[in-house]
Amino acid sequence: MAEETIFSKIIRREIPSDIIYQDDLVTAFRDISPQAPTHVLIVPNVLIPTVNDVTADHELALGRLFTVAAKIAKEEGIAEDGYRLIMNCNRHSGQEVFHIHMHLVGGRPLGPLLAK
Ligand code: 5GP
Repeated sequence: MAEETIFSKIIRREIPSDIIYQDDLVTAFRDISPQAPTHVLIVPNVLIPTVNDVTADHELALGRLFTVAAKIAKEEGIAEDGYRLIMNCNRHSGQEVFHIHMHLVGGRPLGPLLAK
């Protein structure tokens, strides 16, 4: 059984956060340290530590991440200009919270995807 992270407490509303969307499968809240004018984390409500732990059972929840990302991007007014969706996995990516999460980042030009 994987160890819970702070994101489980956010999902259960046991600690404060700026939740902007929640349903039976996913929760979206603003990143505590935003890297752009819009920086939202969209997470499955069930604990999946990394993308390496994904199974077919998770497909509905993980698909929902994209539906919700598109909805939030429209609401934030960044859909047409564009934005970036990022999901880090393990050490080389810099993953810090081991409950998978999609970063929705936008509101300014983001530059090249990969640092050289
Ligand atoms: P990672 O590096 O794991 O892909 O991203 C983790 C993200 O979670 C970081 O952008 C970090 O700012 C954010 N974060 C970490 N702890 C909290 C928290 O307690 N509340 C919120 N809203 N965001 C957090």
